[in-house]
Amino acid sequence: MTSDAGPYFKQCPMCGHRWQDREGFLSDPDVRMLGYMANFERLELGLFLFDHQVCGTTMSLKASLFTDLYDGSVYVERQTGTEACPGHCLHAEELDPCPAQCECAYVREVVSICRNWEKAATSVRNG
Ligand SMILES: [Zn+2]
Repeated sequence: MTSDAGPYFKQCPMCGHRWQDREGFLSDPDVRMLGYMANFERLELGLFLFDHQVCGTTMSLKASLFTDLYDGSVYVERQTGTEACPGHCLHAEELDPCPAQCECAYVREVVSICRNWEKAATSVRNG
């Protein structure tokens, strides 16, 4: 984490809730991943969309904040628009992993890691 990330990982623009670090953010049971808006020119500038269910606000975070979670192989070729491409990256609400051997596929692996992050147990839930 670089110093320009600030003293906390993310602050909710609506209710002001702060998450001190990424693990705390992803494990928060009130944070739900909603979508991924691909940036085809610079993949790391794609946006991950998260819903803060406490206040109902959607927050967007750059993919580059999460890409280090994935340490597998990254394909160098882009398959977007070819027959091998299922077009997931064209739809923000489509979060399934991509089977194509495509440069964009690793970001979707990162999406899966974020979505499947183990949520912390909370003692007080209002359903
Ligand atoms: Zn909030």
